[in-house]
Amino acid sequence: MPGKRCPKCGEFTFFESTTGRKCTKCGHTMLVSPGPGKGEKCSNCGKYTVFNSKCRSCGATYSGGRKIENGKG
Ligand SMILES: [Zn+2]
Ligand SMILES: [Zn+2]
Repeated sequence: MPGKRCPKCGEFTFFESTTGRKCTKCGHTMLVSPGPGKGEKCSNCGKYTVFNSKCRSCGATYSGGRKIENGKG
């Protein structure tokens, strides 16, 4: 089963991985940012990138639905 075309080596060996896509030929990886609806909405940055109580976009952390300061800034 062919994968997507790899932007680096041009072969159709670009398969989906746990974090995005990876070429099985040259090893080129691409991180795919989750689209809307994939995670919970972050009240800090407004993006749907909250997974396991942590926002992957801005780094804010949550617990029990309440936002916790990440100590940044
Ligand atoms: Zn490749
Ligand atoms: Zn956020």
